[in-house]
Amino acid sequence: MKTCTKCGETKELEDFVPKGNVCRVCANKRRRAYRLTNKDRLSKQDRAWTLANRNKRNEQQRVRRLANRDAINAQDRAHWLANKDEMNKKQKAYKLANKERISEWYKARYIADKDKTLKRQKTYRLANKEKIKEHRKTYKLDNKEKINKQNKDYRLANRDRINKKGNEQTHNLHDTYVKSRLRNTYKIIEPTPEMMYTYRVHLLMFRELRGINNGNSNATS
Ligand SMILES: [Zn+2]
Repeated sequence: MKTCTKCGETKELEDFVPKGNVCRVCANKRRRAYRLTNKDRLSKQDRAWTLANRNKRNEQQRVRRLANRDAINAQDRAHWLANKDEMNKKQKAYKLANKERISEWYKARYIADKDKTLKRQKTYRLANKEKIKEHRKTYKLDNKEKINKQNKDYRLANRDRINKKGNEQTHNLHDTYVKSRLRNTYKIIEPTPEMMYTYRVHLLMFRELRGINNGNSNATS
């Protein structure tokens, strides 16, 4: 038992700060009063301390991360796996709430770092071919209506350009046109170069016989 020099009460030792003569209740009161009267000075100090130590802490973290990269990566992975669902949910919510900001950030980084970004994207695409294909398929299935509407809107907005291009492709027996004919007429989805050549000659011959293809870009056969 000990008597507080401030309030004069006698209390258990555990009610005192170690080696202190003031009880915890009084010590807390004194601390609170001190903080209140010195608020401005203290908060300025706090801010300065935070700033000074943030750089130091960041540097320490960077060094520590570098030295323990593998262990930390494994730890992160394990943590992610253990909390996958929850983190995915959080991430999705965050993405949704910060859509604009995120896309701005990506755009800025893309512009600032274009070559590096392109190279990284290419590497990623090459390494994840199957994954991307699968993802695309799922996306297409899940967003069928949205995609259809997008395509329709695009076609409407660019009708003249598309028609002109289509006519040109037809007239010039462009790969796209020949492929579409093979697909529609013979259900050949992936024609070999020989098929393409033969069918192109066939179409050309047909046109000659019917007297079209004399510079008329509206030919449709
Ligand atoms: Zn006291």
